[in-house]
Amino acid sequence: MIDTYRMAVDRAAIFSETDANGTIIYVNDMFCTISGYNKDELMGRNHRVLNSGTHGPVFFEEMWRTISSGSTWKGDICNRAKDGSLYWVHSAIMPMVDPQSGRIERYISIRFDVSEKKELLRDLEWRADHDVLTGLLNRALLAQKAKETCAEQRSSGKSVVVGMIDLDSFKEVNDGYGHAVGDKLLVIVSARIKNALRPTDIVARTGGDEFVLVLKDLQDYSEIGSTVIRIMAAIHAPCIIQGIEFRVSACIGLTVYPKDNRSVDTLLRHADQAMYVAKQKGPMSYHIFDVIHDSKVKSGFKIINRVKEALRLGELSLFYQPKICLNDCSVVGFEALLRWHDPERGLVSPLDFLPQIENDKIICDIGEWAIEQAVAQISEWCATGRNWSISVNIAARHFQEKSFIERLALVLKNAGHVNPGLLDIEIVESVALDNIEYVNKCIVGCQGLGVTFSIDDFGTGYSSLNYLKQLPTQTLKIDQSFVWDMLVDAEDFSITSAIVGLAKAFNKVVVAEGVETQEHFFALRKMGCDLAQGYLMAKPMPAADVVRWEAEYVQSAQYRALRQAHGVAEMALA
Ligand code: C2E
Ligand code: MG
Ligand code: MG
Repeated sequence: MIDTYRMAVDRAAIFSETDANGTIIYVNDMFCTISGYNKDELMGRNHRVLNSGTHGPVFFEEMWRTISSGSTWKGDICNRAKDGSLYWVHSAIMPMVDPQSGRIERYISIRFDVSEKKELLRDLEWRADHDVLTGLLNRALLAQKAKETCAEQRSSGKSVVVGMIDLDSFKEVNDGYGHAVGDKLLVIVSARIKNALRPTDIVARTGGDEFVLVLKDLQDYSEIGSTVIRIMAAIHAPCIIQGIEFRVSACIGLTVYPKDNRSVDTLLRHADQAMYVAKQKGPMSYHIFDVIHDSKVKSGFKIINRVKEALRLGELSLFYQPKICLNDCSVVGFEALLRWHDPERGLVSPLDFLPQIENDKIICDIGEWAIEQAVAQISEWCATGRNWSISVNIAARHFQEKSFIERLALVLKNAGHVNPGLLDIEIVESVALDNIEYVNKCIVGCQGLGVTFSIDDFGTGYSSLNYLKQLPTQTLKIDQSFVWDMLVDAEDFSITSAIVGLAKAFNKVVVAEGVETQEHFFALRKMGCDLAQGYLMAKPMPAADVVRWEAEYVQSAQYRALRQAHGVAEMALA
């Protein structure tokens, strides 16, 4: 090579030459620095001396096929330095052909150190599906692993146990000793749970003090019982942090697949319900979801009558989940979400009873009750200077009642001086599309009373642009299924950003639901989405907890981090 070129390359890159068999005939100083070998140690040896074992034979076969046929090979290679450490280089390997014989006489390679980039990428990939504090899987990876485990066990005729662990009184540790101690305790408890399991079992952290187990190859209920007791005992062993002894206990709810033959989401919900029943029994209890009882309750009229009774007996309540402004992180309002405190089944999700009753008149009674509750709550918060809005979900059957507007007007009138602009009504996209002219008239009528409207689960109902133009609602809520996967699925990312764009074009506020990680938060902020709702900020909570939650939220490290938006997450999106 011309000397001046060689000098330039020597300064800029890791450079080496081998003969046609891969024997090193030249290395520059940068090559020696990164590999830790001196020139004498390298000259005359085969390049294989740097092989790290990271790449299989197919990788090198493909490389040799390319270069020995006269073409340049480019790619990233992981090499092993003399001290055993690994480093990544982006490499271009070029064959040098003798013009006389036409044969390849040597190979020259130019490499750049990309170890830091690789490290950062690996770290980001890891963060996407792990809980950073404890190193356990997060919800996203858990769901995927649980699905795979269920499919695999089912095909071999075996069961899978899905369990939900919730620590007892963990909030008191956080409140009494601070979050730093709480975090240390979580790390210790996570390690103990992991150690109490077999290597093939799965454990994930899905919320503050909530863990999920996916256990396989358990033969019968007595084996499930002994495993659960082993986990509880491990958690309960004393642990000393900053000189203070803690004894944590936990309750565990479980369900067994395929006896409980449902999707992973439903299995998790059933485990959660069972955990709630366990909590009612007291600390250190466990409960296994009762499939037969559950299916009995769900069948036919029985459930309608039970829900009627639940409404009458005051077993229904609304939980509130905050909506946060993506720009300044302020709390702008809450979505009211229905919960049923069934004395036998525990806390029942609306998804476990609303589908069976949504065509019965009871759904209208529940909707009206929910509006009354929400309006009273708005009034209570406003009295203390908190002008938070509340969104109430209204079912199709209820919204299409002829008397809907009239009844709404009555509730607002009975409530006295409530600002109707703080009441928002959510209807799902499919309802809005069902009978667009009538729905439009209704929406406009309600807006005449001052209330606002949101289209819920947007993106699932095939809205055409024309419909969207006609719908006079103020807000679109992006369905959470798109949000969950938007960082790993390019299509969901495109759909989410397209909905944000549409909302902007039609001058509507856009809310992303199901925001579970900071990475989602930052990506949505970057897209220009207005509001976020999701487990990252808070799960739905009883009204009594809201004021305290907000006070803690604006003091929290997470709030500061979201406001400032810095670090790895932002770099990844740049
Ligand atoms: P939705 O209106 O789309 O409500 C959002 C659901 O997503 C809620 O489930 C909420 O708890 C859950 N969620 C919020 N953030 C996250 C997150 O970050 N990750 C995950 N995995 N989930 C999140 P929920 O409370 O079980 O309600 C389910 C559905 O039941 C609601 O979906 C709504 O369609 C319906 N619903 C709830 N309350 C009422 C009600 O009072 N009346 C009517 N008619 N329907 C209701
Ligand atoms: Mg909703
Ligand atoms: Mg929704």
